[in-house]
Amino acid sequence: MSVSHSSRLNKLVREQYVRLPQDGLVQVTYVWIDGSGEGVRCKTRTLDKEPKSIEDVPEWNFDGSSTAQAEGSNSDMFLVPVRMFRDPFCLDPNKLVLCEVLKYNRKPAETNLRHTCKKVMDLVKDSHPWFGMEQEYTLLGINGHPYGWPDNGFPGPQGPYYCGVGADKVYGRDIVESHYKACLYAGVKICGTNAEVMPSQWEFQVGPCEGIEMGDHLWMARFILHRVCEDFGVVATLDPKPMTGNWNGAGCHTNYSTEEMRKEGGLKHIEAAIEKLSKRHNYHICGYGYFEDRRPAANCDPYAVTEAIMRTTVLNETGVETKDYADH
Ligand code: MN
Ligand code: MN
Repeated sequence: MSVSHSSRLNKLVREQYVRLPQDGLVQVTYVWIDGSGEGVRCKTRTLDKEPKSIEDVPEWNFDGSSTAQAEGSNSDMFLVPVRMFRDPFCLDPNKLVLCEVLKYNRKPAETNLRHTCKKVMDLVKDSHPWFGMEQEYTLLGINGHPYGWPDNGFPGPQGPYYCGVGADKVYGRDIVESHYKACLYAGVKICGTNAEVMPSQWEFQVGPCEGIEMGDHLWMARFILHRVCEDFGVVATLDPKPMTGNWNGAGCHTNYSTEEMRKEGGLKHIEAAIEKLSKRHNYHICGYGYFEDRRPAANCDPYAVTEAIMRTTVLNETGVETKDYADH
């Protein structure tokens, strides 16, 4: 069996409870990046009125010793709300709130790459950097084997699957369409989707997003993907190479421009940025950690990727060192 037990519970029964009135109370689910730097965690609390903006959502905390995030004996970690979305699972007026994680001493947690990314994005804000990221992922059964693949074998060779249509070409479209709708409802700037080269491999695109918004929206899109997959009883992996052999890897291609690149005569600014990127290959390789075809892999942290591009192309940093910029 490749789908989870919970996914076979009667989902119609749940509908009855989701529709119950809440009498003004609001469920707010706090979402954060855990100590792995790739996993997301969440927990939910009740607020006594609907938050109208992120400022209305209070800080919270969690036990970092259970998420590989705690330092020494101080396991309390702070959740600092940074962006609010509508909750496509519990529906309005409930919220999903993306959070930065701070340690007990209020320094950013090791996997909180948003903290420095935000500083850099504030510095370069007059360049109005826009990003679009193409998130590839693979659906797995709970047995860890790609969803829909024969239990003891392989599907036919790649070729018919990319943007494919038909029961013998694509596996799990229900999940992809549900995720797309859930992102639109939530307010995540999802802008497209397609079936990928390997069967059970898919892509969605998020953007255009300006500055820090890119990482925020992509991380929430990933959270929604994992949550939708949970309902369907399968697992989404961002593993850049989930199947060894002649099977497609998974990337996270990053599209980018500044305001001057988008204007008349912008091509010369694009060429200048490419020239700067070409001289700083080692720094970008280290920042992304893991490459496929010299572009960010599926499990990249979008804060690291967008920050690195800003440092090189707008702030004109050179070499492998990065500058530390003051808080402001
Ligand atoms: Mn692709
Ligand atoms: Mn692409």
